[in-house]
Amino acid sequence: MRVGILGAGQLGQMLALAGYPLGQRFVFLDTTGNPSADIGQTLIDKDNTCLAEFLSQVDVVSYEFEHLPVALVREIEQHKPVYPSSRALQVCQNRGLEKALFTQLAIPTPEYHLVDSLETLQQAVTDLINKHNKPVVIKTVTEGYDGKGQAVLKTASSEGVTAVWQRIGGRELIVEAFIDFVREVSIIAVRGQVGEVRFYPIAENHHVDGILRYSFAPLPNLNTDLQAQAEGYINALLNELDYVGVLTLELFQQANGQLMANEMAPRVHNSGHWTQNGAATSQFENHLRAVTGLPLGATTALSPTCMVNIIAKNGDAQQLLQEEGLHLHLYGKEERASRKLGHVNLVAASSEALLAKINKVAKLLPDSPAPCFSFAPESQL
Ligand code: AMP
Repeated sequence: MRVGILGAGQLGQMLALAGYPLGQRFVFLDTTGNPSADIGQTLIDKDNTCLAEFLSQVDVVSYEFEHLPVALVREIEQHKPVYPSSRALQVCQNRGLEKALFTQLAIPTPEYHLVDSLETLQQAVTDLINKHNKPVVIKTVTEGYDGKGQAVLKTASSEGVTAVWQRIGGRELIVEAFIDFVREVSIIAVRGQVGEVRFYPIAENHHVDGILRYSFAPLPNLNTDLQAQAEGYINALLNELDYVGVLTLELFQQANGQLMANEMAPRVHNSGHWTQNGAATSQFENHLRAVTGLPLGATTALSPTCMVNIIAKNGDAQQLLQEEGLHLHLYGKEERASRKLGHVNLVAASSEALLAKINKVAKLLPDSPAPCFSFAPESQL
């Protein structure tokens, strides 16, 4: 089976690493001129001339990032199967469509307004702050990621609102009520071509400045109702979109145990990298099994696992690999501020032992924030 991937970053590379043992081969279509996937074949296509060549070499197409022109995916669908579909892509790349779908499916999400001018922005900020007595989070409707294209306002002062409009406005924005969450979690699920679904255990995620730093799964003392709630929400999305492949849903957990959907990604996700070393089948393998029509693999966790992102600066591999249960995944990228260069997966026999390992390893990674988890008293870290 020849799999075509739109995009050629680290997610594409990790898909290929998981697909080779299944006998799959990969062709990447890169439009950035800067591919990092260093496996399989990459077509660099900055001026849109390689599509026919790409299509002639693949049996099925998927993608590893969602900021793709929907028209391109629709065109590919005329020639080859594409999973997830262009409809799923269209919804997931637009926060307005995504929120409308959450609402349609009765999935709770922060109250929001869509705005497209300074006046409507001012109105929305004033309304939400007055109503909830909480700050607002303002995001671009398309193309934001890793906290880019976002702002938080605590008051509705016209100076603050104007400054936000000047920085990220001039295009459609979404204004959301700020949620005082107790933690951020995500659920990853995979749906196959005949509609079978498997769910991974939810992970707790820690972001700093909008960038994911730690994902821990499975969660100690996880309330089964919480897992069931998350599964119910993502299952509704998978079925409504007639989805094939891995879908990720990021959620806020509130103090009363209620989950609220933040956003979703139509692809393998950074908060699922722990599955490479901590689950019976990784998210990468399961995505490929789904898009190539193979039976899905078990999604059970094998042991407590934590993914720690390596951002901006590499650690010393000699030192890191001395740690028992540490798996290093480097993406072959040059060091640069805020850049994801790789990650480590740490596995241990118990959550307590894992917390101790995380603490040790965080100190070996330059620029790593101090670990902090909702279930771990500071004394454990
Ligand atoms: P996003 O790009 O939507 O995932 O937002 C990046 C990060 O900003 C999230 O992981 C949260 O930490 C924070 N955030 C986004 N929206 C909200 C919200 N409505 N209330 C509180 N925090 C938020």
